[in-house]
Amino acid sequence: MLDADFFRRWMTATATAVDREAERLTALDSPIGDADHGSNLQRGFTAVTAALEKEAPATPGAILTLAGRQLISTVGGASGPLYGTLLRRTGKTLGDAGEVSEEQLTQALRAGVDAVMALGGAAPGDKTMIDALVPAVDALGDGFAAARAAAEEGALATTPLQARKGRASYLGERSIGHQDPGATSSALLIAGLAEANGE
Ligand code: ADP
Ligand code: MG
Repeated sequence: MLDADFFRRWMTATATAVDREAERLTALDSPIGDADHGSNLQRGFTAVTAALEKEAPATPGAILTLAGRQLISTVGGASGPLYGTLLRRTGKTLGDAGEVSEEQLTQALRAGVDAVMALGGAAPGDKTMIDALVPAVDALGDGFAAARAAAEEGALATTPLQARKGRASYLGERSIGHQDPGATSSALLIAGLAEANGE
């Protein structure tokens, strides 16, 4: 079973990875965006870890809904409401249980990813964070390490795609040949799950 400490470790591992990779995320957002993805997420996850320390939510669901709220209110770009919705919907789906199973987390994350697709209108293949998140959730049944590998592969596979959603879509065919920054950061979020599990 996964307890509140697991979810706290997930969020702090993601914040550390975002800090470490912020320059790279911003560099990826330079040719097909406005070069702010790394700084956007760094601001967001710094707020997440500060809020988790201050408010000390006691359940997995409360941890993720608080994290999602922080991302919505502090990340300037399109990715803030999308990541915020992902974590909030996942948290709400987990309810107020003190511990959840991996199966429950998989189902809740699927609900979260569905909410991101409903909000942003992106489908797999549109060169967005969805291209890392959907394969990750599909692989979660095989464990956190499998989900991490699937998310990384999904992020790499965005390079030859033409963007159909978000700022990169304004570039049309010129968006081809660049890895999507949001799919890349989503792979960091999923890697955080494996790290929280000691993998
Ligand atoms: P902005 O584009 O407002 O500057 P960011 O740079 O923080 O925001 O985030 C850009 C990332 O957000 C993209 O790389 C993409 O993965 C993701 N994104 C943008 N629009 C959408 C959407 N409609 N659905 C899903 N993801 C999206
Ligand atoms: Mg941007």
